[in-house]
Amino acid sequence: MQQKNESMTEQIEQTEQTEQQIEQNEQDICYMREALAEAQKALDMGEVPIGAVMVRAGAIIARGHNMRNTAKNPLRHAEIDVINAAAEIVGDWRLEDCVLYVTVEPCPMCAGAIVQARIPKVVFGTRNSKAGCAGSVLDVLNEPKLNHQVDVVEGVLQPECSEIMKRFFKRFRKNAADTACTANTDNTAHAAPISSH
Ligand SMILES: [Zn+2]
Repeated sequence: MQQKNESMTEQIEQTEQTEQQIEQNEQDICYMREALAEAQKALDMGEVPIGAVMVRAGAIIARGHNMRNTAKNPLRHAEIDVINAAAEIVGDWRLEDCVLYVTVEPCPMCAGAIVQARIPKVVFGTRNSKAGCAGSVLDVLNEPKLNHQVDVVEGVLQPECSEIMKRFFKRFRKNAADTACTANTDNTAHAAPISSH
């Protein structure tokens, strides 16, 4: 009987855990949609479409998107802008009670900034095989030799986050091809090389 009771308690605990997880996932999806809306703004501006939001105590306190080309500034990645804005709102360089949502796996610079800001949790959509520092190229967010490790959740709205990047690069390649056609007759025209991060 006792055994039965124990297994029932276990079952109840498991159910509660699953419900908690589902609720968490729904929250993650909700915030990632907001990050995707930011990515869309970047796409509309002809920027590599990466968006981010910072969440604190169940509310979005900062949002941003990649602005590198528009601002002509290599530091204007979505995560950096959002960390800057959040630090101003929180009034501290430590963002220890914040969660960062970003559509693409952070690059070395942004992963470094996340560690510097002591952000405890990062949720990202899709991996970046060329520059990702949450496990793809390096694992800066979980490097045991560093003084801060980050709880990472990946794959939230992965298809959408990946699709918007593909749309950008498809459009970019088309533009580059069109420019290359022009370049055949005009040596001054050429496409600038571009990378996601
Ligand atoms: Zn970055």
